[in-house]
Parts: sequence; structure tokens; C-alpha cells
Amino acid sequence: ETITVGELANRMAARQGEVIKALMKMGVMATAAQIIDADTAELVVNEFGHRVKRVADSDVELGIEGVEDRPEDLKARPPVVTVMGHVDHGKTSLLDALRTTDVTSGEAGGITQHIGAYQVTLPSKQKVTFIDTPGHEAFTSMRARGASVTDVVVLVVAADDGVMPQTIEAIKHAQAAEVPMIVAINKMDKPGANPDRVRSELLTHGVVVESMGGETQEVEVSALKKQGLDKVLEAILLQAEILDLKANPNRPAEGAVIESRLDRGRGAVATVLDQKGTLRRGDIVVAGTEWGRVRALLDDRGKQIKEAPPATPVEILGLTGVPEAGVPFVVVENDNRAREISEFRQRKQREKANALQVAARGTLDQMLARIQAGEQKQVALLIKADVQGSAEAIAATVEKLSHEEVAVRVLNASVGQITESDVQLAKASDALLIAFNVRATTQARQLAQREGVEIRYYSIIYQVADDVEQLVRGKIAPKH
Ligand code: GDP
Repeated sequence: ETITVGELANRMAARQGEVIKALMKMGVMATAAQIIDADTAELVVNEFGHRVKRVADSDVELGIEGVEDRPEDLKARPPVVTVMGHVDHGKTSLLDALRTTDVTSGEAGGITQHIGAYQVTLPSKQKVTFIDTPGHEAFTSMRARGASVTDVVVLVVAADDGVMPQTIEAIKHAQAAEVPMIVAINKMDKPGANPDRVRSELLTHGVVVESMGGETQEVEVSALKKQGLDKVLEAILLQAEILDLKANPNRPAEGAVIESRLDRGRGAVATVLDQKGTLRRGDIVVAGTEWGRVRALLDDRGKQIKEAPPATPVEILGLTGVPEAGVPFVVVENDNRAREISEFRQRKQREKANALQVAARGTLDQMLARIQAGEQKQVALLIKADVQGSAEAIAATVEKLSHEEVAVRVLNASVGQITESDVQLAKASDALLIAFNVRATTQARQLAQREGVEIRYYSIIYQVADDVEQLVRGKIAPKH
């Protein structure tokens, strides 16, 4: 997984000098004959605005790529549904309402558990699986980590409010993932409900519902009054039929981690959804960099089960650590194999982290070099904190660190996690991003890596001040 700088330039039809310059910007000094690793190459390729297609994916190297199933082994499987839409339009209410349509809930008698996904059984015995973390952040971050579990998106639009910014975002996310949508026009019980307005607004965003001659099914519902739920389920089943969703239940399981956490009494707990095969108690599972023997399988009512067929959400106990939500899992033949894969992935992850750190460090090093050379007269900062008080305190503290040669300029100090627009702003203004007790969204983190924007995380104000002071005095040693 290496390539020379010259060959990379060749493949991108770019000049060698341009590639060498791009590498320098990332803090990597290279000649045309120099060999660079795949991660660094990927960063360069992104820099040139190309998309990367890796030939050697880590898992393929290990020989655990998905085994193709024969068509005759495939059986119909339940659809997996994600609910998206604007805040307060009723995503959670709809998920709660749909949950009550399960015909087996009475007989099972279990108390519903929130495990990140649930399944309902319809009177026809057909099943539908819902991811019960609503919103497109979960959907997108899962996709970013390689898991595309959703077959159908239910787009909730409040009939009294119409298409709003997050509605449009949800549409874009579903379209990008090429997942079909069903529109649930919600809050039909409200006096101000105007479903036709919703329909025509959707039209202006490229979503043509059936009643307007299009392909997208729409259903009028009231999550609150539990009206129209059967229509939603019908629409989902129809869509599932069109998609012809199938899986081979008679093979080792493969799927994705939906949610995970560390439980005090039970250790690492992960909710997984198998997309292929049947997961069984006793199976040896690798999930991302974690692995373990499945000690127990629990369904969405907290009941122990022995096996989970395709598209059945289950909690598994027995992993050595907590895998990231969204990572794929796979059942392997034995402990040694599991350990081998886990170690391989950990090593890959470290290598990648190092490569990215080298790249990110480049921007700070450059800044430092310019300050030392007297070329840079100011340091721009963007501050995001968990509370307004901290944001203001940090801004006030660091601005005092300005001296005659270098000024500290706070572009913005506000509350909230770091988003893509923060990264874009930082990039555009050559600023450092200071994250105080907050995190960056996955997309923001990825964008920052691609753009070489430095995000520095802190939880103690004087450490922010220390670092900024060192920087403006031209002697910071970047650390993480
Ligand atoms: P989310 O942010 O999209 O998950 O929205 P919620 O499910 O939390 O609902 C937001 C608010 O709208 C809550 O106060 C709900 O009670 C209310 N709501 C949800 N569905 C309906 C509905 O069908 N009719 C009415 N009248 N209110 C609803």
C-alpha cells in the first residue's frame, strides 16, 4: 500500500512539482522517487479534488471479504427503516407510535428496551426493523464508517410547518445514499395542517409524491393520535417488495454495530444488526477493532434469545471493548482469527492516525515557521466551548496574549460542537480551531483532516492560554 510521488502524479495526470508542493503543505518533504503510504497519498488525492478508490482494502487483504451468496439460498428479510426529518416534526413520536403496532408485544410481555433499534411484527407476520435513533446525523455517520444498513427512509414532515432546513438536508442525505423515501405527512390532527402545501414544497426540492404523479409514496399521519400508522407500514412493505430485500440466513453473520456502550455490570454492550446470516450465542465476532465470543443475545425487550436472523436488532454481550457505532461486524471461525483481524485493524488505525497527524501538524508548523520568520503578524482562533462563559473567558484570556509582533485574533467564540461550517471558516481564515469540552462532528473531523485544519481539544483554560502563548512566541511544540 505504497506509491511513489512520481507515480501518484502520473495517475492523477498532475505535474510532479504540484504533488511535491501539496505534500510540503502537509509537512511532508518528498522527492519524486520517494515512496509514500496510502493514507498520505489519499490526502494528496483529496487535495487535488479527486476521489480515492483503494484497491487494497484492509479486510480484503485479510481475506474476510463478504462471501457471495447463491441466489437459491436467499430468503426474504425484513426492511430496515430510518426516520428522518426536521426537529419537532414528530420523528420520535412516530417511532414510539409505530413501536406499539407490534402484535407480539402483548404475549411476550417484556418491557421495551432502548437498544438503538427495534422490530415490529405485523398481523401478517411480516416484520419491519426500525433504527430508533432519529435524524440524519446517525444515518450519515454510520455511512461514513462503512455501514449502510438503511433500506428505506421515512421522511417526517409536519403538516402545519412544511418543508424546513433539516427536511431538505434529510432529502439530500437519502438521495446521496440512494435510499428510497416514504413521506409521512405528520400532525394531520392539527387545525393548521396543510398537506398540499407540504406536497408542493417537496416538489420544489425534487421529491415528487405519488398524488402529484411521482414515485415517492406519501402517507398522512398523526403520530400523536396514532392515525395512519398501518398506512406507513403498508408503504414500507410495498417499498421492501420493490427492493426485493433478501439475505441468506444459513451462513455466519455479517452486519453493523448500531449502538454501543460500556455497562457497569455487563461490560461492553453492542447493539448489532445482521445484514447477512444468522448470529448465534457462542459465535466469535469481530466488530471494528474489538472482538469476543457472544456470551448472550438480547432482543429489544431485553429477552435472551439464542439466534438472530437477518435484520433482527440484538444486543450482544462478550466483546473485549466497546466498538464504534457504525462499524461493520463479522463472525469468524475462531479466537485466533478474531485476534489477528482485531490487531491488524488496530495497527491500520494507528498508522492512519499518525499519517493524519503528520498532515495536520503541517499547518501548525507552517504557521509557526512564518511567525518565527516574522512573516505572520497574527494568529486567528475560532473557539467553540460547552458553555458561553468558558467561550468568553478563553477569548478574553487569549486576546491578552497579543504582543507587538504577533496579535491574537478571536474570530468567533461560541457554544456547541464543531461543525463543518466552523472548519470551513477556519480554513478560509487560516485559523486554529479550539474545542473546549466539546467534540467535532464526524463530518467536521473528516473535513478538517482533508483541509489540513487543526482542531485542538482542551478541557482546562490555562492550557489553552499556554499553547497560544507558546505559539505567538514562535515556540510551540504541537502535542496531542
Ligand atoms: P422530533 O424532534 O422530530 O423527534 O419530534 P417529537 O416526536 O419530539 O415531537 C415534537 C412535538 O410535536 C412533541 O410535542 C409532540 O408531542 C408533537 N407531535 C408529534 N407528532 C404529533 C402529531 O401527530 N400531532 C400533534 N398535534 N403533535 C405531534
